[in-house]
Amino acid sequence: MPNFIDVILPIPLEKLFTYSITEAEANFLKSGMRVSVPFGKSKIYTAIVHSIHNTAPVVYEAKDIHQILDETPVVTQTQLQHWHWISRYYMCSVGEVMRAALPSAFLLESETIITKNKDRIVNDEDLKDDEFLVYEALHHQSSLKIQDLMSILDKKNVLPVIKRLLEKNAITVEEEIYEKYKPKLVRYVKLHSSFSSEKALQNLLEDLGRAHKQKEVVLALFSISAQTKKPVKVSDLTNQSGASSTIVKALIDKGILEEYFIQTDRVQYEGEENESSKQLNEHQEKALEQIEQSFQSQNITLLHGVTSSGKTEVYVKLIEEVLKQNKQVLYLLPEIALTTQLVNRLQNYFGEQVSVFHSKYSVNERVEVWNNMLDNSPKAQVILGARSSVLLPFHNLGLIIVDEEHEQSYKQFDPAPRYHARDAAIVLANMFKAKTLLGSATPSLESYYNAMQNKYGFVELNQRYNNVMMPDVELVDIKDKHKRKRMNGHFSDRMIEEMTETLEEGHQIILFQNRRGFSPIVECNTCGHSPQCPNCDVSLTFHQYKNELRCHYCGYHMAMQQQCQACGSVEIDSKGFGTEQVEEEVKALFPNHKVARMDLDTTRGKYGYEKIITALEQQEIDILVGTQMLTKGLDFRNVKLVGIMNADNMLNFPDFRAHERSFQLMLQVAGRAGRTDKRGKVLIQTYNPYHRILQQVSTNNYVEMFNEQMNDRHNYKYPPLYRLIKITLKHRDFNKVNFAADWYTKSLRQVFRDNVLGPEFPPVSRIRNLYHKNILVKIPPKQSLSKTKEAIIKINNSFQSVKDFRPVRVVLNVDNY
Ligand code: ADP
Ligand code: ZN
Ligand code: ZN
Repeated sequence: MPNFIDVILPIPLEKLFTYSITEAEANFLKSGMRVSVPFGKSKIYTAIVHSIHNTAPVVYEAKDIHQILDETPVVTQTQLQHWHWISRYYMCSVGEVMRAALPSAFLLESETIITKNKDRIVNDEDLKDDEFLVYEALHHQSSLKIQDLMSILDKKNVLPVIKRLLEKNAITVEEEIYEKYKPKLVRYVKLHSSFSSEKALQNLLEDLGRAHKQKEVVLALFSISAQTKKPVKVSDLTNQSGASSTIVKALIDKGILEEYFIQTDRVQYEGEENESSKQLNEHQEKALEQIEQSFQSQNITLLHGVTSSGKTEVYVKLIEEVLKQNKQVLYLLPEIALTTQLVNRLQNYFGEQVSVFHSKYSVNERVEVWNNMLDNSPKAQVILGARSSVLLPFHNLGLIIVDEEHEQSYKQFDPAPRYHARDAAIVLANMFKAKTLLGSATPSLESYYNAMQNKYGFVELNQRYNNVMMPDVELVDIKDKHKRKRMNGHFSDRMIEEMTETLEEGHQIILFQNRRGFSPIVECNTCGHSPQCPNCDVSLTFHQYKNELRCHYCGYHMAMQQQCQACGSVEIDSKGFGTEQVEEEVKALFPNHKVARMDLDTTRGKYGYEKIITALEQQEIDILVGTQMLTKGLDFRNVKLVGIMNADNMLNFPDFRAHERSFQLMLQVAGRAGRTDKRGKVLIQTYNPYHRILQQVSTNNYVEMFNEQMNDRHNYKYPPLYRLIKITLKHRDFNKVNFAADWYTKSLRQVFRDNVLGPEFPPVSRIRNLYHKNILVKIPPKQSLSKTKEAIIKINNSFQSVKDFRPVRVVLNVDNY
């Protein structure tokens, strides 16, 4: 009987691909192992075995696989199931999920190798000069890579030469695949075996008599080995003896010491004894009990706990419980909140059991976490990670904690899979019959809504730890301040007063200026008004080339206004100001204080972000100016004042979630103020102090915000009541995108009628030379999500089958918010 395997290839292929294997291979292979396979004319891919069977493919002839790459599966069955769910739900290929999940070291790279064709001798006269050079080089070296050819020929474009040599049958070309993962090797030293006798040793020490440094190294080696009996690391030796590594090397070169290597884990915890977890206060204790009770009947529970209420300590107790049952915990955090602050805190409690999975870690470190998890190693019991850690090979997950569950960075926008880690986590937990705890001081509307609908359990923690008071929030009316000439640049007199006082008392200040997205919205400089879409409740965006204001959801538009519609002022601004400008103004206002800035520009390097945080902690910075990055779960003792420079540009952001997000952002930044005894102060500068959201922020009234926003979502048909799928078409040619988008929209309207918005250019409609056009499909509460997706896929398939449309890229984004 012939044998076949279906494999997942790491590319956007809709179906699994079938390859032919031998009987022996069939007996050896298991689902979840990697194989390398040929694909297309000359490509080689690493694929994951999905299933093994005896059915030949119908429409093509199955090729043989190249090689089996594993002895045991590197992907678990649960992972495969989870990948399939992600692919179905987010409308992408399983291969795309696989690419996002596997550390790149597992996806072998192919590189072209050129060798001489041994079956044929080619005469030199038959070769052109450049061909001859390559052919000649192959006499000396059995194989060459593209790179080598470039240097031999001293030019970049070597493919034509290869092509001609191939046509003349002079060479053959193959792809070599190699694995990039290299386990980290630690260097150890021991005394060379020839000195093992007492006598030889005596002589050695005498010989070294005058080489003091070297003698010290040898003596240090003795004393370390006497203490530990374990292999001695070179680094330990240099530390103990105070000698440099060159001296160690000299001893190795002389044959006195011998070096050897042992493979170790990179992700190593070198802490002291574990700390025991903190005693909870009565509020935390009660919350913990309620969570445990809620888990009796619910798989998912939302913990709504104000900033600094001590949610983390509650999580720690839950984690302890789950570890006692020998189950794993996944602790999810937004990428940027994954700071050393929190990692250290958890490592102090759980020591070696914690593994961190972080995009800033090297590929090798990530491979080690993966392998530890595959082995269900004791080192991989608490996994602390950002979005992509939901894709790891768990064994027996007992609990997932999604901290800061409202964070937008849990959603992946590009490339596919465009998944939401919180939602993918809930599905993953279900596969393990594990529990999920969502935690936030400012829950997303969708999670809070689910809790109110009793789809999730719900627990509140309303007291800050140690009864620290919530900060005092004051709204500063900058319209009024402008009128009365009480502004100094972007700073109101109130802001300057409070800052001066805070600095005099020796406390620190955080100033928050929203990173203005790429959406050019228009604001009145006098009253702060920003023109709105009457259909969608979002700000209109400014399109310069047509001098128009447009809604980028529905296409509503009007001419750019010369005067503010609200107050008649002619001072209308479409630029706004950024952190850099704030920083400059602060420096001028407070020349004797240290000012730093934290935004995308200043945090680029590997530890850029960490450095600024440490400097703030160490009180090397008096005033920190920053963007959203400042909001993420940081705990600074000495910050007493938080200033929000301009609340209006957040509120006016052209997105249906702008109000919800502004509320979350402002409360989160406010939460950085006064985390200890003295009450913190928050100043919010705004043109519109009577804005509902600002009132709700200043009274910390989440419930009122929720109710009002839900009302808007209902009226304008937005999530969490309606669902959304965004379809983006991209192409270089403006007309082609327009034409294609019209065709696509028309087809969608035939099925979904009024629930299709657009097509509409986004505010920035040309990105890397491609024009973008968006179509939004709104899905009413009772409409089946899977049927909707089926209909879209059908339309998408007919679209792709039109020859003219084939070069147009289509991006499907489910829950694109
Ligand atoms: P949240 O995550 O809710 O904002 P944290 O868990 O960061 O709050 O707690 C705020 C501060 O209070 C932290 O410094 C934490 O160490 C401290 N804390 C919280 N609970 C306790 C406790 N039970 N005992 C001692 N310190 C606590
Ligand atoms: Zn105005
Ligand atoms: Zn609109």
